[in-house]
Amino acid sequence: LRDRLKDPSLLRDKCYIDGAWVGTGETVVTNPVNDVELARVPNMSTKEATQAVEAAEKAFPAWAKFTAKQRSNILRKWFELIIANREDLALILTTEQGKPLAEALGEVDIGAAYIEFFAEEARRVYGETIPTQRADARLLAIKQPIGVCGAITPWNFPNSMITRKVSPALAAGCTVVLKPANETPLSALALAELAERAGVPKGVLNIITGDASSIGLVLCEHPAVRFVGFTGSTNVGKILYKQASVGVKKLGLELGGNAPFVVFDDADIDAAVEGAIVSKYRNMGQTCVCANRLYAQDGIYDQFVEKLSKKVAAMKVGDGTEQGITQGPLINEKAVEKVERHIADAVKGGAKVVTGGKRHALGGTFFEPTVLANVKPDALVSQEETFGPLAPVFRFKDEADVIAMCNASPFGLASYFYSRDLGRVWRVAEALESGMVGVNTGLITTEVAPFGGVKESGLGREGSHHGMEEYVEIKYIMMSGI
Ligand code: ADP
Repeated sequence: LRDRLKDPSLLRDKCYIDGAWVGTGETVVTNPVNDVELARVPNMSTKEATQAVEAAEKAFPAWAKFTAKQRSNILRKWFELIIANREDLALILTTEQGKPLAEALGEVDIGAAYIEFFAEEARRVYGETIPTQRADARLLAIKQPIGVCGAITPWNFPNSMITRKVSPALAAGCTVVLKPANETPLSALALAELAERAGVPKGVLNIITGDASSIGLVLCEHPAVRFVGFTGSTNVGKILYKQASVGVKKLGLELGGNAPFVVFDDADIDAAVEGAIVSKYRNMGQTCVCANRLYAQDGIYDQFVEKLSKKVAAMKVGDGTEQGITQGPLINEKAVEKVERHIADAVKGGAKVVTGGKRHALGGTFFEPTVLANVKPDALVSQEETFGPLAPVFRFKDEADVIAMCNASPFGLASYFYSRDLGRVWRVAEALESGMVGVNTGLITTEVAPFGGVKESGLGREGSHHGMEEYVEIKYIMMSGI
């Protein structure tokens, strides 16, 4: 990997604490394409996590006192450096994570867009004046940075999940200790390298790799940490929620989803097929907003399945760094087994494999992009997030039925539907129990909109000006004696 980078110094294998590169490589990072070792990163634990929190605590007062413009300028510089190095960052990302290079470039760009957006937003953390209820008093509310923030991020978006948390935190005047996923630490460390070059002061951003549960415990329990931001599985989110209750810490949780994708009879079918491909097969189906359950109405069911399967069968599977590949390997063996389990269960219930259905001839963790038809409503895949390249297509009769099926889930992150009837668009968009709805689109993530879920999909929003609110506290001041 090092030889293929224009700037090999972006490949870091030490952690970044208090402005110093520390630790020695113990944990092996591999390429999911072939299991080849890429690097070894430190296996840190309670002691180093505590040091990192203390460094962030020490750096906080000075960073909070920077003017918004000063912080904005540093973030802007970080953004520019990421864009200048986007090809190297994308190559590192694809090599440790597996997604096709074009998608990795897209992720680096949106990751950078979060930083750009929050560099701008840094200067707009406005407070308010409140009409007084007493002649001798004036009332106002100001917003202040919440303090030291912990962040724990997943492997499926090794770049953008980091910038989406770190940039609003830094913009608000907070300092951060971040633990990236063990599968994908190299993208995180490359971002730290560029943050250092951009002039982020020491201790303001700390990145540590190692034992997830002990680092997570420190982030949840250390009294200096005031906010913990997490993207990952619902199970781990619940553990963090409990742990953070001890010190009554504020949490941002972006957890699992089980997104429905509905195609009504009146939809533009070709557009729906395109949307389904983007929503379902992006990152080989490994995103929390991936369509997990596809519902097609009676009148267009066969046509939709046929058109979708044709496109899916034509997808090119292989090493994501090679030209034209649209599907890389899955992240690990466990991920492959889950897809197999969902297929076996659906087939047992009477579903038909229209295309794909098994491990790919390339071996390893490659899997054939799959479409299943005639899937029964009670199939496992209707309840659990697959996180793989499997599109199960369910049949439905009418609007009320499909809304009930969509909402029969403890999750509520994203939903999608295709319709050209204006009344239906409003009705369904309002009825779906999810934090985000894509109407006639399969791709909704953008730095300018609030991303997040309801029900067990999480707490809080990331991106947009709402994303900044997570990192500030409101202080009410009454000035009396006037
Ligand atoms: P996934 O199944 O996608 O790997 P996880 O929730 O296990 O999702 O992982 C998301 C992030 O949470 C990763 O950085 C992982 O290391 C971290 N993590 C896993 N277990 C814990 C834990 N007990 N406490 C804190 N973080 C954890």
